[in-house]
Amino acid sequence: MKMEHDLHMTKGEEETSYFKNSRLQEKALVETKPVLQKIVMEMCVDLLHPTMTIVDLGCSSSDNTLFFVSNVFKAVSYHLEKFSGHPTELQFFLNDLPGNDFNRVFQSLQRFRNSIDMDHKGEPIPAFYIAGLPSSYYTRLLPRRSVHLFHSSYCLHWRSRQLPDGLEGKKRPYPNEGNIGIGATTPPCVVKMYKEQFQKDMLLFLQLRHEELVANGQMVLTFLGRKHDDVYSASLNRLYGLLSQSVQSLVEEGLVEKEKLESFNLPVYGPSMDEVKAVVDQSQQFELTNIKLFETNWDPYDDSEGNDVHDSVQSGINVANCLRAVMEPLFTSHFGESVLDELFKKFAYNVALHLVKEKTKYSAITLSLKRR
Ligand code: SAH
Repeated sequence: MKMEHDLHMTKGEEETSYFKNSRLQEKALVETKPVLQKIVMEMCVDLLHPTMTIVDLGCSSSDNTLFFVSNVFKAVSYHLEKFSGHPTELQFFLNDLPGNDFNRVFQSLQRFRNSIDMDHKGEPIPAFYIAGLPSSYYTRLLPRRSVHLFHSSYCLHWRSRQLPDGLEGKKRPYPNEGNIGIGATTPPCVVKMYKEQFQKDMLLFLQLRHEELVANGQMVLTFLGRKHDDVYSASLNRLYGLLSQSVQSLVEEGLVEKEKLESFNLPVYGPSMDEVKAVVDQSQQFELTNIKLFETNWDPYDDSEGNDVHDSVQSGINVANCLRAVMEPLFTSHFGESVLDELFKKFAYNVALHLVKEKTKYSAITLSLKRR
């Protein structure tokens, strides 16, 4: 599996596309909007240069990235109007891996510009420019000291640089039998590999962004994490456990070869807040200005706060559609397209059964960092 080639969200605007199934990720943007806007307004005060350069890392292909752009834009316009600061021009770079459906985003830009014009009729608004940046964020993306703000939402749990050493491919004996990620029967040595890969990836990411940021430049990063120290109890791993179970059923039915299951390890790791803080400390390149954990129901369309699941069958389907839009290209390349309908049907059923017993939530971590 080549992450840079195989990892992208489902393209286009069809029912199964990421565009149609990205409400979970949108909820995170709503949650982090106040922190983002506060930072942008702070930056407007400090800005010495007439152009503010802002990068959305892992922008994907839904309108979420434009929601982010509009949140930044609104904060800058508000500052301009309130404090009549000098006019700032905004340069946005939207980054993702080259396989991302950038065209879908670019084709919606005119509509987006029209809606901005409508919202701000007659008011002075900052000029803004939007460009694509197709490359992995585990490489240098932009010139030294040129970026004011990096943003990334729902991406950094992906260990997309490479799988943990010794887990990838057909190495035998398989150390993580029956699991496609960290599951209840995953040996501690495999968990350790995942954790070390997270640390390596994050340190590299921080070092690269440190080079690209201007003095006092900032970052707002949100990604899936876990609430407790115990990796096995993480709700994310329980979700992937249900996905493993679904693949296992296909193996038993002879639809997927056992070897295919054993040679697949999902390159995702959700760290705890302590693990994140430890990496930031170790890098010594950033001041951690804010960190918090928030939870969202597995079902992206369930906005209720209590512990009841109103319709577990529908919730199972919603969770499966959400995950399919994220995993489909990766799963197609490994297991083949023909099993996907059956796989996600089984997964929806397994999730529904689980939700009847326990309403489970994703944990996400959001942090802001200032360049030292
Ligand atoms: N930020 C968007 C998308 C989240 S989905 C939103 O809030 O809706 C995660 C995205 O991260 C995917 O589009 C995936 O392709 C991208 N991604 C994962 N690893 C990446 C990497 N190394 N470099 C750039 N993008 C990456």
